[in-house]
Formats: sequence, structure tokens, C-alpha cells
Amino acid sequence: MSHRVTLIPGDGVGPEITESARRIIDAAGVAIDWEVAEAGAEVFKRGDTTGVPRETADSIARTKVALKGPLETPVGFGEKSANVTLRKLFETYANIRPARQLPGVPTRYDGEGVDFIVVRENIEDLYAGVEYLETRDVAVALKIISRKGSEKIIRYAFELARREGRTKVTVATKANILKLTEGMFKRIGEEIAAEYPEITHQHLIIDNVAHQMAKDPAQFDVIVTTNLAGDIVSDLASGLVGGLGFAASGNYGDDVAIFEAVHGSAPKYAGKNVINPTALILSSVMMLRHLGEHAAAQRVEDAVFVTLAEGQAVTLDVARQQGDVEEATSTTGFTDAIIGNLGRSPSERYGRERQVPADPPTPRARWSYAPADRAVPTEVVGVDVYLETSDAPAVIGQHLEAIAGADFRLAAVTTRGTLAWPATSARIDSVDWWSARFVPAAEGGAVTDAAILALLGRVSERYRWMDVQKLTRFGDEEGFTRAQGQ
Ligand code: NAD
Repeated sequence: MSHRVTLIPGDGVGPEITESARRIIDAAGVAIDWEVAEAGAEVFKRGDTTGVPRETADSIARTKVALKGPLETPVGFGEKSANVTLRKLFETYANIRPARQLPGVPTRYDGEGVDFIVVRENIEDLYAGVEYLETRDVAVALKIISRKGSEKIIRYAFELARREGRTKVTVATKANILKLTEGMFKRIGEEIAAEYPEITHQHLIIDNVAHQMAKDPAQFDVIVTTNLAGDIVSDLASGLVGGLGFAASGNYGDDVAIFEAVHGSAPKYAGKNVINPTALILSSVMMLRHLGEHAAAQRVEDAVFVTLAEGQAVTLDVARQQGDVEEATSTTGFTDAIIGNLGRSPSERYGRERQVPADPPTPRARWSYAPADRAVPTEVVGVDVYLETSDAPAVIGQHLEAIAGADFRLAAVTTRGTLAWPATSARIDSVDWWSARFVPAAEGGAVTDAAILALLGRVSERYRWMDVQKLTRFGDEEGFTRAQGQ
């Protein structure tokens, strides 16, 4: 049976590494109809601000599987990342990044048995990319964490652990600081862990994960975390096992999967035939397993391992680490060596013994999702109004107390999350971005939309306001935080 796969060569070294992977897959005897499609720099240059042309998206929607080279992202201003666009277009919510010691690849942790997987949530968090320049000098971004998104990725991690016979899942968050967003992720981790009694569950603060990873990476098995943290610790993880040249990844959704190297377009090496293609080759091993081509996946992985272990063909990045740049093999030469080793098995097994081959589960049916209890009463108990001013806190407080009117009482004025009014002993280096918290004038009173709109009208007579947030209580739970010092 022939598979259809969308192949996106991408930018920089992308065409070289995708060609390498394609040649190896073909040589391994897997019949694939490649639909070659475009995305990235050239597309941006033509004025398409998504970087992903319609035909490319249509091709992936048809084939449901893509192997892609890196795509360049214009930095700082303008267009959004075409990589992130692709992940979001197809809701590939699970980004799987294995970190395993490889034969012949020198690392600081040789022989310790590093073999873990970072499961990164791929859609939400700060990567939702919702940002506002609220004043000329202050930008804010929304960190969006949903119960559904968290349940899906955490369940994915536990299912992956179960399927691979892995025994420990670490849920990594910053819940100590971000109680509502990261805290939700942590709590859902605890709920879901209870359904997998055979798997040890632990929660670690993400900064400690970074520390433990540098100190003793072999302790980890599966790490599941939110998007930004996952991005960072998975790059750290790839540094532990030989660097970006070896770091593979898969983006899995309910019905589409996109496979790519973790690294970028490495523009300085583009077209020079020196780049290490291993990361994308190992990503295509993940792809073959996803396609159900387990025997071919094993053949390719074994051939890569034999090639690395024997060390006769080493790419420039490894040759450099070995201090022998003259001995470096070209990208095509390294690819030929792997093809020549197809059918051979490495003398040593690397990584943990697994019950089944590493094959991330692809949920065919959507997992059940338990929304929070809708019967819990919601009650608006106040409102935060964000405003721009260079007034001193005492002056802001004085004006806003008058503006509060009969319906509201000014409870606090904060800047960047720190209480500034009523005055405290805190020394605040204020910026022009303030938040005023209003609560009902009468204790236990209700806050109506009409009262909020009237309040905004009064605020706008004095200050430019940018944003407004209702303070909601869900049953006994406060759906908002207090300022530092409040
Ligand atoms: P990069 O990954 O391209 O390069 C970082 C460093 O690692 C460079 O020194 C590079 O030469 C080296 N390197 C990367 N891959 C290698 C390999 N296979 N073999 C040997 N050495 C390798 O990161 P960057 O320079 O920050 O980004 C360049 C461009 O790539 C940017 O436009 C960025 O947006 C894009 N990017 C794309 C993706 C993606 O498509 N998923 C990921 C990261 C960066």
C-alpha cells in the first residue's frame, strides 16, 4: 500500500535534510506518494502573510501527514511564524520531542542512560500569540490555558507512557507563581494521574526541571508541560544528547501529524552540503511508525544507529566536537552511509527496553473531556480597569476614588501586579500602565454590566483606559488574583 505524505522542503538547509530523509525512506522500501508543497520565506516574500499557501494547507488536509523542513520566521515584527500557523491550522496539540542518548555521539552524560520524552502542549499558553501594545511603552501578552487543552495533552502523555511501558510522568509547571493558568495544568495532571495507577506521577516546578535535567537527566521518563516551558526545556534536552543536529519531533493532532526537526533553517550552512540530517531522519522514523510502517521504521533507526556507532561517516557538527573537522562527511555522503547500512542492526541497544516500539499514540477518537461543573454559580464581584497615566499613585487613587461613584469603591491601584495604592512601603518604579480594582460600594453587592459601562464612561473623562476585566467568582473559587502586597 502506498502512503500519501506532504513534503515541505522549507528554508535554508531544509531542502538538503528533507532530500536526505526522502532518499532513506525510499531506500527502506516504503512506498510513499510525496506531495511536494511550499511554505516559509519565499511565500512571505510574495506577500502572503501566513507563510502557508492555501494549496499547502489543502495538501495536508488531504494527506493528513507532513514531513517538513524548517521554516524561517521574520523576527520581532510583522508576520507570525509559519511553523506555529501550521501547528494551529491542524490543531496538532501534542509536540513530542524524544531525548535519547545516541551511539557515537559524545555527550557529557555518556553511559547514564538518558532516554526521556518531552510532551509539549502545542496550541495554547503564550504561543496563542495574543499580544497588545497597550501603551506606547508597555506590551502585554495573554497566557491562555484551557481545561480542555490541558486534559488533552496530559492524557496524551500518560497514554504515551502506558503504550511505551514507561513508568513515570513528570508534570512540569510554574504553578507556584501562576496559580490560575499553570495551576490548572497542575491540578488536571493530578486528576488524570489517578486514572493511571501503574504510572508514577510527580509534579515539579519547571525551573527545578531545568536544574534536574542538567544534573541528572536519566531520572526523567516522560515530561509533560505547557507550551513555552516545553519549547525551552526540549531544546535543553536536545543539548544533553548531542545537540540540535539530533533532535527529532512530531506534532500530533486528532487526525493530522506533522514531523520536523527541532532545529531551524541554519542559514549559514544552507546549500553547502555539510548539515547533519539526523534530526529529520529520526523525525521520519517517528513518521513511519505513525504510518504503521514499524518494520521500516526500525530498519531506518537501526541503520542510523549503526552509522553513528561505527563513526566512519560523521557530519561537521560531530567532527568539530571530536576536533577533527577534516574528517567530516557531507550531508549526502552521510545519507549514502545510512542507506548502505539498511538491514544491519546495532550491536548494542540504546535507550530503555520498551514493551513496544516508540510509537506515540494517535487518538483516532477524541478523548472524553470533562468540562467543569456548569451548575457552579458565577458571580461578578468587581472589575479591573487598565489605564494609561503618568500620575503618581496617590493622585491616581484620589481621582479614581471620586470616579468610583455610588456603585463602586476603589479597592486598589496596582502597576505590573504590585500594589501602589493604598500606599505601602514598597518602592515602585512605576510605568505608565496601571490597573484599578473596583468592588461594589455595598458589601456583598452585585456588579452589573450597566454599572461597569457607566464606570468606564466616568474613567474615560479623566484617563485613557485600554482594557477591562470582570472579577468573577465561580462558586467558592476566586477567578482572579490579588496584587503583590494586597
Ligand atoms: P537554528 O536551529 O537554525 O540554528 C541554531 C544553531 O544550531 C546554529 O549554529 C546552526 O548552525 C546549528 N544547527 C542547527 N541545525 C543543525 C544541524 N542539523 N546540524 C548542525 N548544526 C545545526 O536556529 P536559529 O539560527 O535561531 O534560526 C534560524 C531560522 O530558523 C530562523 O528564521 C528561525 O525562525 C527558524 N526556525 C525554524 C524552526 C522550525 O521550522 N521548526 C525552528 C527553529 C528556528
